[in-house]
Amino acid sequence: MEYEELLKNVLKEKKASSGERFIPPEAEVNQSGQKTVINAEKFANYIKRPIKHIARYLMHELTAPGQIDEKNNIIIGGRFSRRVVQEKLNAYIKDYVICKQCSSPDTQMNKIDENFVVKCLACGAEYPVGKIK
Ligand SMILES: [Zn+2]
Repeated sequence: MEYEELLKNVLKEKKASSGERFIPPEAEVNQSGQKTVINAEKFANYIKRPIKHIARYLMHELTAPGQIDEKNNIIIGGRFSRRVVQEKLNAYIKDYVICKQCSSPDTQMNKIDENFVVKCLACGAEYPVGKIK
């Protein structure tokens, strides 16, 4: 898979440069009735992105309704497997975390006016990322 290749390259680079490895923890995915409960808190903390933004992305990608419960779980309407959810989260990393200039995962995302801007702490690149509808 393309993403895995990308991640592998990133890991190699990271290891060579700082000794730190970028391995986001997997989200816990459980089906509950006709809903899918996703505990993505560790994942969100690790990649330093708001859980709300990740939830929005998942809803859009899965074309399903969703919400965040009081325990910060993402609840998606419909049953989605762990594999499908993880694939979407990997795609999220590619779109909103990995620097498009230098492939470093060491980036921040800031909201400027109504737009999100990713800033790379490794190479200094700064670019807007698409809005999730
Ligand atoms: Zn960069």
